[in-house]
Amino acid sequence: MAEMFYDDDADLSVIQGKKVAVIGYGSQGHAHALNLRDSGVDVRVGLKEGSRSIEKAENEGLAVMTVPEAVKEADLVVILTPDQVQRTVYAQEIRPNLKEGAALLFGHGFNIRFGYIKPESGSDVIMVAPKGPGHLVRREFVDGRGVPVLLAVEQDASGTAWDLVKSYAKAIGGLRAGGIRTTFTEETETDLFGEQSVLCGGASQLVMYGFETLVEAGYQPEVAYFECLHELKLIVDLMIEGGIAKQRWSVSDTAEYGDYVSGPRVIDTHVKENMQAVLKDIQDGTFAQRFIDDQDAGAPEFKALREKGAQHPIEATGKQLRKLMAWVQDTDADYVEGSAA
Ligand code: NDP
Ligand code: MG
Ligand code: MG
Repeated sequence: MAEMFYDDDADLSVIQGKKVAVIGYGSQGHAHALNLRDSGVDVRVGLKEGSRSIEKAENEGLAVMTVPEAVKEADLVVILTPDQVQRTVYAQEIRPNLKEGAALLFGHGFNIRFGYIKPESGSDVIMVAPKGPGHLVRREFVDGRGVPVLLAVEQDASGTAWDLVKSYAKAIGGLRAGGIRTTFTEETETDLFGEQSVLCGGASQLVMYGFETLVEAGYQPEVAYFECLHELKLIVDLMIEGGIAKQRWSVSDTAEYGDYVSGPRVIDTHVKENMQAVLKDIQDGTFAQRFIDDQDAGAPEFKALREKGAQHPIEATGKQLRKLMAWVQDTDADYVEGSAA
């Protein structure tokens, strides 16, 4: 059983005694900054000039400054910019301004695990990785609850890094739900594997192949959309509530029998071998390097793949059908249909 931490295992006064700089105010950054402030922590937000996030943070009454200004004041620097820009922000704006012995906190271990950031030996290097999007981290906190978090210490320069990481996790509400002790390596590799093989890559491809198979066989795309995309949420909700067993309990016997006999035919052992190959590319850094090299070149591969995805016929079908369903609301004000950015 994993080692777990809850509110009673952490002392809020540790983080309340520190000046904290949150760098980035996106999905995670806004949630961390606001939850810290509401937990009585002295927090400032560091952003680059001209950032569209500045107004949002200022409207919440947060102190906003440039990254160097925020870092200079801080005992703890929380790095919540996108993974692909973290090493440049660290090298150019954080490292040169970091107070002696100031700690670094990450929301995901990518840059430490793959060596893109190599912190000084005097800094504690810690991680609090919420297992949910930032908007949920904020919403749950406001409602008096929390989203579970993963906690890790990569470098314990002070000898008290675990007290600090637990205190921070408590301040953002994570220990109300529970924190699981992990390492930067385990968090990074499992996070990348999960999103690539199952959650994002696997699920998207499964949906598209199902849709294509029906449409190519002459069925109407609207009907295929419901069977292969829309109803997925209902199934996943059942799995979240009660595991795969509850999903099988809820569906008809016909569907349950079909699950047993056809599931392993569709997702056969080759798929598991493919997953193992994906995991190997994550573990040996091949995936990380491909992603970062493409980003450094202006992301030509990433942009082309995004464009190709948006052109898939399932998107046009879904756009029309969602208008029929008043309860299917796109509630994210920042999301523009047809752009994944
Ligand atoms: P977002 O893309 O939502 O937000 C990034 C923020 O960083 C924006 O405020 C952006 O400002 C700012 N930013 C971008 N470039 C710079 C720069 N050069 N200097 C200063 N600020 C900059 O990021 P996420 O919240 O998704 O990800 C942050 C971290 O959290 C990552 O490590 C990610 O892996 C991790 N994480 C994310 C989760 C999620 O649900 N999204 C879940 C768990 C972990 P602007 O508005 O100007 O672009
Ligand atoms: Mg991830
Ligand atoms: Mg059905």
